[in-house]
Amino acid sequence: AKAEDPGAIAFFDEETRAHAVQQQVLHAEIDRALDEHQFEVFYQPIVNLSSGRTDRFEALVRWRHPDRGLLLPEEFLPVMETNGLIIELGYWILDQVCQQLAQWGPRVVNVAVNLSDREFWHKDLLPHVLDIVKRHHLSPDRLALEITEGVLMRRPEAALHTMQELHDAGLRLHIDDFGTGYSSLETLHRFPVDAFKIDRSFLQSLASGDHTSRLMIALVGLGKSLGLAVVAEGVETGEQLTFLQSIGCATGQGYLFMPAVNSDDAADLLDLDLSD
Ligand code: C2E
Ligand code: CA
Ligand code: CA
Ligand code: CA
Repeated sequence: AKAEDPGAIAFFDEETRAHAVQQQVLHAEIDRALDEHQFEVFYQPIVNLSSGRTDRFEALVRWRHPDRGLLLPEEFLPVMETNGLIIELGYWILDQVCQQLAQWGPRVVNVAVNLSDREFWHKDLLPHVLDIVKRHHLSPDRLALEITEGVLMRRPEAALHTMQELHDAGLRLHIDDFGTGYSSLETLHRFPVDAFKIDRSFLQSLASGDHTSRLMIALVGLGKSLGLAVVAEGVETGEQLTFLQSIGCATGQGYLFMPAVNSDDAADLLDLDLSD
């Protein structure tokens, strides 16, 4: 704010103060939500586009807020990333997912869990993850970790080391939101990854031209030649599905199939008998 406009300064300060208070309230609420287990893990199917079947899911966190209803990650993850509470939440999510995997059994090949910047760079990530996996008597390959290139590119050498360790331990590694920001061939080539997910902005701009469809064909080809699984994110329409099938994209995820649902609804989709 400019010194010659004191009114603007007062306004700015007032807004900053209000924002700070709001962040403090949110912090206290989140602290309590962790204690009272108000968070829930939802599951979105990753669908085989030729068979229509599902044997994988992505875990997506929700907050069942006592007054405000079911909240999406965008409403609470940014502040948790800033204040560090994401670490506690993240390990809780991994534990929930492993418990669910153990209950579902081998019918579910794996569940992918998102790792934020702060989670990926947490120094005890590998031992913590392995502890959780062991506690539920699971093989580490039942967990896939989804990481964006932006996170890796902050410190590529150190990231390579961490990725190598995670991969050597048997965890699956997915590059999330591929095709945005830092995307490069080198990431796929250099890091030990098993899959990449084509960001949903590609399918969104498909209708507007040929250019996007050529890019998607190239990305699917890239996956094939590097031996990586490819997942198309944000499949919302029948036309998009038909296009993906026509270019040989193996798997997809999106509202056309199912949004993220609670674990009971996910189990219904699997047609599992978990009655005993
Ligand atoms: P993401 O990892 O790219 O997850 C995909 C997001 O797209 C999810 O939003 C999902 O509900 C949404 N989505 C799925 N199908 C469609 C579709 O057909 N159309 C559209 N428009 N959207 C679709 P959500 O659950 O709100 O999560 C947003 C982001 O929050 C995630 O993006 C991820 O970066 C982060 N996030 C979610 N859960 C977790 C978590 O447990 N841990 C961490 N660290 N981050 C998480
Ligand atoms: Ca993801
Ligand atoms: Ca994504
Ligand atoms: Ca049953």
